[in-house]
Amino acid sequence: MKIRLAGHAGFCMGVRKALELVLKEAEKGERIYTYGPIIHNPQVLQLLEGKGIGVLKEDESSPRGTVVIRAHGAAPEVFAELEEKGLRVVDGTCPKVRLVQRLVNKNVSMGRDVVILGEPQHPEVIGLVGHGKGRPFVIQGPEEIQKLPPLKEPIFLAQTTQERDRFLKTREALEKLYPGLKTYDTICSATKERQEEAKEIARKVDLVLVVGGRESGNTKRLLDVAKGENPNSYQVETDGEIDPSWFVNVKSVGITAGASTPNWMIIRVLRRLEEIQQRYESFFIRTVRHLLRFVFFTGILSSLALFSLAMGIMGLQGDNRYLRFPATSALLFLSLIIIARYVDKESMNYNDPSMYGFLMRFRRVVLVMGVSSFVLGTWLAHKYLGVWELVLSLLMALAVMGYSFQKSFGLSKIFSFPGLRTLGEAFIFMFLSGPFLHRNSWIQDPFSQLFPTLLCATFAITKSLFQDILRFQGDLLMGERSLSVTFDTERLLRWTFVISGLQMIITVGLILTGNIYGFPLLLASFAFLFCLLGYKLKLILIGSRLEMLAELSFVLIIYTLWLQDWFLNKISWTW
Ligand code: SF4
Repeated sequence: MKIRLAGHAGFCMGVRKALELVLKEAEKGERIYTYGPIIHNPQVLQLLEGKGIGVLKEDESSPRGTVVIRAHGAAPEVFAELEEKGLRVVDGTCPKVRLVQRLVNKNVSMGRDVVILGEPQHPEVIGLVGHGKGRPFVIQGPEEIQKLPPLKEPIFLAQTTQERDRFLKTREALEKLYPGLKTYDTICSATKERQEEAKEIARKVDLVLVVGGRESGNTKRLLDVAKGENPNSYQVETDGEIDPSWFVNVKSVGITAGASTPNWMIIRVLRRLEEIQQRYESFFIRTVRHLLRFVFFTGILSSLALFSLAMGIMGLQGDNRYLRFPATSALLFLSLIIIARYVDKESMNYNDPSMYGFLMRFRRVVLVMGVSSFVLGTWLAHKYLGVWELVLSLLMALAVMGYSFQKSFGLSKIFSFPGLRTLGEAFIFMFLSGPFLHRNSWIQDPFSQLFPTLLCATFAITKSLFQDILRFQGDLLMGERSLSVTFDTERLLRWTFVISGLQMIITVGLILTGNIYGFPLLLASFAFLFCLLGYKLKLILIGSRLEMLAELSFVLIIYTLWLQDWFLNKISWTW
């Protein structure tokens, strides 16, 4: 069964900004209310409630604190009423909705009649009518035009999430009555793209799943759009609503989601489809899939990625292929990942529920693995590298523990620097795969270590940045000050592309100067770039699969290096 995920599925800019605003306000320690649910997802609302963020109830007696107006916006009277109640009002209205509010207000003030295509009870429409001093007319389609009184210099616009076809048909019908009709296409570009894409996908697949809350108007319209092209379309709020009987004789499934659907709900739906698909898979494919999930969820794949990079860097420097050195680094790294994953499990629950479920289920096994790899790693560091490396291993473990248990140790202030987790992870990955294993070379000829270390740094930072981008939504909800939360994912993705480009330039430069051992690294760079492009163009399904592929691209280094050595038959591999 082929699965096609819409590129524009999930949070839109407006919802995301409003959510960021609410979480930022919550950091101030006051009771925070939202004027209506900020997104239509009970799980998120529960989590927000745990952070002191609740939905303001109409009958709330003497509320105190701050109220955030959500992306839909609200009428000016609402702002005044809330302030009268003694609440501090923070405006989280989406900038695009705010533009429409101004447009309505301006035209009403000029004495024109404003006709809005929208749902009369939708909060955004109620807000727009309020900005038009209660004078705009709301219709739901061309069939309601007859209800309108004679209009004076009418202008026509739409609720930002309206269906485009309906907008065009209504405009056409209105223009027949009012040839001089002034129209503003106020349907948000995110909505247009989402609907266009849903249409296109629905045409090409056997079945469409629209993921999103039943209260969400834009999800309902997305379903209408999909149904218009493919009657075999269903709306699901959660993965639990998917009925396996829908998929009999279905060869391709398209997935799209409303503007307020969190990523992890889409991931859950994807996992559910995978489960259904597994029933038809061969034993071999199922085993490979389980094995890959095991090595990825436990962190073995990450440490294998480090092992591979460390071997690649050793290869670049013409060293013999001693496996014991990268193995030491990989074991230490594995133990550090396991600590970090357990401590970070809450945000993981939102980013990748299947990884969370796995770690909770096999908690003991993975913890034993973490402790054993740390003991073995430090022992190897002492035996093969020296006392300094042993001390450094202990210091790294202490730093990770300090960061992971910052709240319990009262160290939150020290570790509150934005992006510290990403940069720290990148630093440890870089350090363990390069400088940690080459102390003597650093002392004897530091210049010779510059390019290899720079390469390690580019690999480590791109890997961490990409992970950070993929974990954005969970981090945002958990209040983690990661780089993606601080700088936004688009900017971070651009940086990742730039650093990957730099990495390729260095590798090509090394190859051109005669170092053929740059090839394995170059191949890994290309594979990683493929993952980045896959993410950017939404060609690869989101979630842990993408992170897994990114880590697998590192593993290519060791495979290619081994192949190269075997072919040239010059350097032998030894423990
Ligand atoms: S759908 Fe568009 S207008 Fe509505 S909140 Fe999202 S970005 Fe803003």
